Amino acid sequence: MSAGGRTAALELVGVDKRFPGVHALKNVSLEVRPGEVVGLIGENGAGKSTLMKILSGVYQPDGGEIRHDGRKVVLRSPIDAAATGIGMVHQEQSLLTNLTVAENIWLGKEKPFLKGRLIDHKAMAAAARRQLEKVQIDIDPTVVTEKLSFAQRQMVELAKVLTLEEEIEGHLVIMLDEPTSVLEQAEIDILFARVRALRDRASFVFVSHRLDEILDLSDRVYVMKDGAVVAEMPSADADTEKLHSLMVGRSRNAEYYKENRQKPYRPEVVMAASGLTLAGAYEGVDFELHAGEVLGIAGVIGSGREELARTLGGLAPATGGTLTVFGRPARLATPGEAVSLGIGYVPRERRVEGIVGFLPVVANITLGNLRAVTRGGLIDHAKERTTAETWVKRLAIKTPTIRTLVMNLSGGNQQKVVLAKWINAGAKIIVLDHPTRGLDVGAKEEVYELVRSITAEGVAVILTSDTLEETIGLSHRIIVMKDKRVTERFEAMPGGKPDQLDLIRHMV
Ligand code: ADP
Ligand code: MG
Repeated sequence: MSAGGRTAALELVGVDKRFPGVHALKNVSLEVRPGEVVGLIGENGAGKSTLMKILSGVYQPDGGEIRHDGRKVVLRSPIDAAATGIGMVHQEQSLLTNLTVAENIWLGKEKPFLKGRLIDHKAMAAAARRQLEKVQIDIDPTVVTEKLSFAQRQMVELAKVLTLEEEIEGHLVIMLDEPTSVLEQAEIDILFARVRALRDRASFVFVSHRLDEILDLSDRVYVMKDGAVVAEMPSADADTEKLHSLMVGRSRNAEYYKENRQKPYRPEVVMAASGLTLAGAYEGVDFELHAGEVLGIAGVIGSGREELARTLGGLAPATGGTLTVFGRPARLATPGEAVSLGIGYVPRERRVEGIVGFLPVVANITLGNLRAVTRGGLIDHAKERTTAETWVKRLAIKTPTIRTLVMNLSGGNQQKVVLAKWINAGAKIIVLDHPTRGLDVGAKEEVYELVRSITAEGVAVILTSDTLEETIGLSHRIIVMKDKRVTERFEAMPGGKPDQLDLIRHMV
């Protein structure tokens, strides 16, 4: 295909990609013209990273094709893509932390540095230093990567991708997946200057949640929603407001979130934060959580909300400010301390932190409160069984029997097992960290039902969620975080729920 008379440097034509249970890309077409910066935006889960991974050989498309300089290509691996002049800086950082910076930069490209069968580390470090100069970062290439900050690693990743400059003769295409979320302004300036300077040699695809950045750096913008490209336009024709509404552009369904069953919360404050700070993650956070309340925390990656949720679950103790639980100062230094204060944490990585997959449903449910089913140091099996059966019935957990191993249940039912565990353990505060990630529509609705019924009984919920829609639908109040701080607070009772755009304005 030709665009403006020029052949696209790289093109996706009608690409489809599925993961188990997810249609991640739906008939996506996109082109990157020589020397242009293409901005790519969309909500979490829209398919941006998947699209870039297909363009850089990490994933293979299930349908459609990739064209490079107008010719169909098959990119079997990232190495294949690199040989074609396509490189990517990943969102989830990809450096090997036990290697030195120089070893990471030249990983898989050690050949020029071989002296006989040994690597000439001096020469490798010198060459790495030249790459690091490109991104104007002053670090010693011989240090082990784990010593670097996240931001420094991001710059090293960029320096590594820029090795393509010397290796490839032709035009380059470089993909940057949310490179700025961990960078400080000075580093962002360096990155942008580098991108602009390289434009006669390279095209870029750039993902960011900061729409002003996208408009600043890109020539054209693609908007993705639910796995499809829903709009494409020159940046000159776009503004942040317009892009926001294209990204969300969907009305919330009050019924879906059981809003008619949302009861006012109670006056009792069960948890309060004042000036709460976790150095490097978030600062000066204030909030009060009431019995029966769902308090939503909104914010993009890097805003600090993920770490805040983990602090409240006892997984990342704060370094400053105060936190009280039921009126008493609490540090939440460990998950055990949180549990003993009546806080249950439902993590998004259920398989890792929330459940014990190789144990049966019954053990997982009673795990949080073994004392209740123990008599004289021995487990009272009859009591254990009736407890588990009660919860299975009450939460409508779909499992063949209570002896079924939890790893054999669907995601939604695993989620219910984790909730049953905490409610059974008498948790009065539950931290829901992306509770519906990976669940299908029906399972999501069941989780919403559960949230309504536990809050009606006075349990308080802290919610971080994958979509703004869900945050708005479920919450009583919402705090919005940006750049590590709370930027705004919203009341969100039925009838007075804020708009997604209201929230986004304070997020980006
Ligand atoms: P974005 O980068 O826009 O946030 P992604 O491309 O990461 O979105 O994800 C798109 C969808 O595909 C999401 O629903 C995500 O959960 C799913 N997904 C992404 N990678 C995988 C994978 N390796 N396995 C299963 N599902 C995946
Ligand atoms: Mg992504």
